[in-house]
Amino acid sequence: MIQRKSSDQIRKMRASGVIVGDTLRMIRGLCVDGATLKDLDRAAEAFIRGRGAKPTFKGYHGFPATLCLSLNSEVVHGIPNGRKLKNGDILAIDCGATKDDWVGDAAITVMVGTVTPAVADLVEQTRLSLMAGIGAAKVGARLGDIGWAIESVIHKKGYGIVRDYCGHGVGRALHEDPQVPNYGKPDTGPRIQSGWCLALEPMVNLGGDDVHTLGDGWTVVTDDGKPSAHWEHSIAITDDGVEILTLTSDGQQP
Ligand code: MG
Ligand code: MG
Repeated sequence: MIQRKSSDQIRKMRASGVIVGDTLRMIRGLCVDGATLKDLDRAAEAFIRGRGAKPTFKGYHGFPATLCLSLNSEVVHGIPNGRKLKNGDILAIDCGATKDDWVGDAAITVMVGTVTPAVADLVEQTRLSLMAGIGAAKVGARLGDIGWAIESVIHKKGYGIVRDYCGHGVGRALHEDPQVPNYGKPDTGPRIQSGWCLALEPMVNLGGDDVHTLGDGWTVVTDDGKPSAHWEHSIAITDDGVEILTLTSDGQQP
């Protein structure tokens, strides 16, 4: 069942979302050559708790950390460990925060130092595909319109779209109905209603679409070993339009 949120509930989701936005911006600044993934995770947890919120992912189905940190050919759900960032890496940082029982969920992909032009373009086109999806999210439009908007940006470049994972409703729970695929056909799927809150999150590969999960049971990687990028925002769609809930406290993209 797709739950419609009231304006008061959306206000609470905005409060959680801003904590996520600020956390991601803070962590972005720590992503330098030599930083360990574990250090980034510790900093994120302290920051979220300092803002009176809880790290949503920690303990979610047993996930052991605050952030999902997915490096280079890792797509999503990477576990922070002792590995060090180095110049030329890309790191997808996925963060959830829960405050007053409401969840914010967002992700960015950070480039460490100088990355190759091909990888930089992958990162930027993935971000643009997220923005295209957000642009297609309006009351009366359909979920297929969002997927189509995302897919159109990606396919123009010939990149792979991860099909095994998708966006989702968000609210009191991290993952609510509906599922929001990063591909689709215009004018298909459920019609968007006022009060829907969705997390849109294209996962895009420099190579093919296919991915698999490593033996740790979490880390999803590309089959062909090529890099993957991930961007996400939680959004609220109402009769007033679409609002990005996971910007920073000064209204910026983290
Ligand atoms: Mg996320
Ligand atoms: Mg999500």
